[in-house]
This record gives sequence, C-alpha cells and structure tokens, in this order.
Amino acid sequence: MADNKLYEILGVSRTASESEIKRNYHKLAKEYHPDKNPAAGDRFKEISYAYEVLSDPKKRQTYDKFGLKGLQEGGQGGGFPPEDFLGHFFSDMFGMGGGGRGRGRARGEDTIHPLKVSLEDMYVGKTAKLQLSKNVICGPCKGVGGKPGSVVCCRDCHGQGIKVSYQQIGPNMTRQFQTRCPTCQGQGETINDKDKCSKCKGKKVLNEIKILEVHVEKGMKENQKIFFRGEGDQQPDTQPGDVIIVLQQKSHDVFKRTGDDLLMEREISLTEALCGFEFVVKHLDGRDLLVRHLPGEVIKPGDLKGIQGEGMPQYKNPFEKGNLYIKFDVTFPENNFASEEQLKKIESILPPRPAFVMPTGEDVEEVNMMEYTASERSRGREEAYASDDDENMHAGPGVQCAHQ
Ligand SMILES: [Zn+2]
Ligand SMILES: [Zn+2]
Repeated sequence: MADNKLYEILGVSRTASESEIKRNYHKLAKEYHPDKNPAAGDRFKEISYAYEVLSDPKKRQTYDKFGLKGLQEGGQGGGFPPEDFLGHFFSDMFGMGGGGRGRGRARGEDTIHPLKVSLEDMYVGKTAKLQLSKNVICGPCKGVGGKPGSVVCCRDCHGQGIKVSYQQIGPNMTRQFQTRCPTCQGQGETINDKDKCSKCKGKKVLNEIKILEVHVEKGMKENQKIFFRGEGDQQPDTQPGDVIIVLQQKSHDVFKRTGDDLLMEREISLTEALCGFEFVVKHLDGRDLLVRHLPGEVIKPGDLKGIQGEGMPQYKNPFEKGNLYIKFDVTFPENNFASEEQLKKIESILPPRPAFVMPTGEDVEEVNMMEYTASERSRGREEAYASDDDENMHAGPGVQCAHQ
C-alpha cells in the first residue's frame, strides 16, 4: 500500500499540483505556527517537512515510489520528521511569520538608472555599456547564508523580525511600539558565526559588478524607459525586480528637439537677410547640410523656415523623419556704419519712405529720443505716473473754476 501520509498532512491528493500544495502549506503553516498555536507542537514540523518533500519534484518522486523510507535511506533513519530537518525548517519560515515578506512570490524592487545620452546618439542609435553593481545569490551557499541547517529562527523575535514593546503614556494607557529586531537585524533568523558561509559571511548575497548593454534605438526620446527584466538585486525567496534605464538627453549646442522635429536658431546679417546667403549645418549624423537662400527673398527677424525630413527619426520607424525648423534673427548694422552719401544710395534702392506731413500750430513740440535700458524703462514709467498725479492736482481747481 502506498504511503500517503505527507499528502494527508497537507490535505491534498496525490495528484495535487505544485501550486495547490503550496497554497495548502501556507494556509496550514499559518494556522499551526508555534507563535499562534503553541499547543499544536509537532504538527507544524510535520507540515513543514511534508512541504519540503512535496515541493521538491525529485523528493516527491522518490516519496511516491518508496514512501518515507525511501527518503530516509542513507540518511539518519528513525524518527519523523528526520532530526536534521529541525534545524532548517525554520529557514522555510522565512517570510511566513507575519512580517509581511511573502514567500516565493515576493518581488524585489526595481532599480532605476538615469542614462545621459546625446542627441546624436538618439539620432543614429547607440549601444551604451552601463556598469552597475548588484546583489546576486551567493553561489557557495546557494543563498542560505551558512551550512545546511545552520539557519535558525531568531530567539529574540521568534522569527518575526520585529519586536513589540510598550510604553506607559498615562494611567491605564500604553502605547505599542514595533522596532526592528536588533539581534537578527529584522531577518527573523540567525546563523551562528562558525556556521556562516565563508564567501558571503551569512549575508546570502554577494555584490557583483555587472555590465549592461543598453541599446539606444534611433528616435528614442527623453525619459524613455528601457527595461531589463529580472536584472535587479537578487535576494533569497524573491523574484528579482527589473533594472530600468531612463534616458536623459544632454542639451545640444545647435538643436532643440520637440517630438520628432528639430529646431535651431540662426542669426543672419541684414545684408544676408536682403541679399541671400548660404551656410552649412552639421547634422547629427555628421552630414553637412548646405542651406541656401536666394538673393531677393527677404528674411525678416523671427521668420521660421522648415526643411522637410531633416528632423529626428521616428522611434521604431526610423526611415520616417520629422522636420528641421530654422528660426532667423537679423542683426542690423551698428551706428554710423555708412556715410551720408552712402545712405542716400541705400535709400535710393530701398522702398520709398511713407509720406510725412509736418503738422503746424502751437501744439507741435519736437522731442528727443534717448537710449533706454530695461531698468531705466521701469523708472521712467514711475516718473510718468508721478507727472499724471501732478496734472490731476492741477486739474482739480481747473474743474472748480469751470463751475463758477
Ligand atoms: Zn530577531
Ligand atoms: Zn554564501
């Protein structure tokens, strides 16, 4: 007759799936945890042992074929569960005692790294190598932290990782505190110094330098995320989180980017604005774009011109590109750049002045213009208000006069 005891302990059938076994184990382990149910005694150990066997496909196969004896052959034999199990069943307790750390399913935190890339890189694409340090499960001890069976439940916190203390804050009133257990640093378990893994010193993980190859694809944008699934820190009983690279674009000397379009500013002289020009723009892929403007086509200050298809490539569709826009500013010549005669010549070429009719009468007053800077402008305004007030005061009696 087949030995069915371990299945019975977990309350599952012989054909139960791994997840079914896990689910029932969690349920029962909570119920019979020594902290909650001290009277249950060995029941918890039995549950833990049954789970240890049935959750391991090899052990389960052996058990199905040969029963408990098959498992204990070559081992210590005797009692149930085997003695050596007592030591490390507590390691199974990790994360199960109510400290909030899920077992198996828990997911580690994502690691976020900013990566500065140039606009050139986003235009032509680039593979950047990023060096980062991460925790990996210690190989020699396989993340146990010590010899098999050396991990024991912390006596101070009973595996909870936290300690509860009370403070009297008034008559019949106490406040409850939860602090991280200092003995186990909140781990809920301890390893004797002599049993600690020599490689990781009981930390279960090792710090490793890892090089990630980040493929910056054509057309990628500021703040775009590149995911490396499962490359986050490793931790026992935890599914590692992701490494997330967030692209940050370095500012560019010439181009500003909006979406797939590029914008640049260009200062041209008045002569160029009126008589045409040529200049060369070094593009992000190294090409020299020759920009030519024919004589006679006037560019005014603030004019915006577009060059189709010379913007950024579209992400995932790099043969389609945005546009390049050039915003022009026109610099005018300095004072006294030409003699009176030369000016007359220029005037003879430029469109005629609008007609001007000199007003006549006593109310005509000629005024002087002066140079104004921004700060003088605001001071000038105050003075203008002040003179308004003066006028009002004078206007007062004037109105009265009109009534008389
Ligand atoms: Zn502790
Ligand atoms: Zn180790």
